[in-house]
Amino acid sequence: MRSSNRSRKSESAAWRARDRKVLWHPFTQHAAWDAEEFPIIERAEGSWLVDLEGRRFLDGVSSMWCTSLGHRHPGITRAIVRQLKKLDHATFLGLSHPPAIELAERLLARAPRGLSRVFYSDNGSTAMEIALKMAIQYWRQTGRPERTKFVALTEGYHGDTVGAMSVGGVDPFLDAYRPLLFPTLRAPTTYSYRCPKASTLEECAAHCIEDLAAILAKHAPEVAGVVMEPGVQGAGGMIVQPPGFVKSVEELCRKHDVFLVLDEVMTGFGRTGTMFACERDGVRPDLMAISKGLTGGFLPLAATLATERIFQGFLGEIRDRRALYHGHTYTGNPIGCAAALAALEAFDKERVLERLPAKVEALQKGLAPLESHPHVGEIRQLGLLAGIEVVKDKTTRESYRYEERTGHRVILEARRRGAILRPLADVIVVMPPLTATIAEIKKLGRIVRDSIRAVLD
Ligand SMILES: *Cc1c(COP(=O)(O)O)cnc(C)c1O
Repeated sequence: MRSSNRSRKSESAAWRARDRKVLWHPFTQHAAWDAEEFPIIERAEGSWLVDLEGRRFLDGVSSMWCTSLGHRHPGITRAIVRQLKKLDHATFLGLSHPPAIELAERLLARAPRGLSRVFYSDNGSTAMEIALKMAIQYWRQTGRPERTKFVALTEGYHGDTVGAMSVGGVDPFLDAYRPLLFPTLRAPTTYSYRCPKASTLEECAAHCIEDLAAILAKHAPEVAGVVMEPGVQGAGGMIVQPPGFVKSVEELCRKHDVFLVLDEVMTGFGRTGTMFACERDGVRPDLMAISKGLTGGFLPLAATLATERIFQGFLGEIRDRRALYHGHTYTGNPIGCAAALAALEAFDKERVLERLPAKVEALQKGLAPLESHPHVGEIRQLGLLAGIEVVKDKTTRESYRYEERTGHRVILEARRRGAILRPLADVIVVMPPLTATIAEIKKLGRIVRDSIRAVLD
């Protein structure tokens, strides 16, 4: 036993050494990574990841917000295997196939009303790039070529490709690339914890809407659309919006006839309690990007959904060259589509949405004791996602210094205690699979509480 334990440890160390020689990880300072004992994950099941040494970890961030139905979900696994025996891939340029057609039908049946066309791609960033290109080209082809700008919220995140970064508002992710980015109009966001104008979320949101109204009043003739994550901004720090906020944005968009471009990449597929976050306000976007939870977190697949009005703006004679000039090698990959179809089926069969409220409450109760902690500034939650903002000084709301890596130290502690988390600077993100059991969510809450106390007390 002892020796097999030892050999698994040395096997693990050997993989780490090989990783350090050849790999470059996302959002990672490798000088620090090389000193880290990162787990080598060998397998997974349900809410759990298991490393080569046999250590079990609760997947507390759904593997970066996508594993919504748990790892190796049996129905999705079966669907992928079944699809593999029929068709691995066929180009979507000039060809079509049943999984892509059926998935588009099912998605539109679930999506907010008014969306009637599905354009596939591979990830959230590309789904957003495509939405931006559709908006710009639509206006160009319908007599308003001067509508070339977007209004986006500060702290918004839409991906890491250049267009998605251009409408992004998380400055540390953008600073190195500014020369590449196109200009975007910025509206303030509902970050009431650090709002210069208001102390409550509702007041802060009202100011944001006033400012957005002013921006549109001045710039609407040159604006193609307003871009936002509905319900909660993810990578900006789990910044929640009050009910009615997205509706107010929609009303302003309608007033000025600019497109409402919703990024549901993180919020879609049940994360905030409804199938799509914009359902809370009964909003009908013109363009909507989805990805992460689309395949239940199994495969890279994304889609941009558009209204018939936008689609019609691309019709014309061949000589008019009005087609959407965009496509990826793996557009509409059949295996990804089969996985997504199985994920949608699992949503219904397993009554995932109906079972959420009890889990949402368990998460809220699990984190509530932290409210009084001297270094917990604010806990923000919407549905089965939460962000805990830790601060150096609770009274002045002063943040820790970046170099202290406070959030990172908390998640390393959580790892020792059996949960995988990933912070956004000093916001500890908690986002278990929607299929996690109440017992698993309670355990996760306990690990988060204990880790924050162990590091910050
Ligand atoms: C993750 C994310 C993206 C980018 O998706 P990728 O698949 O990582 O390219 C875009 N928008 C939001 C809101 C996200 O959370």
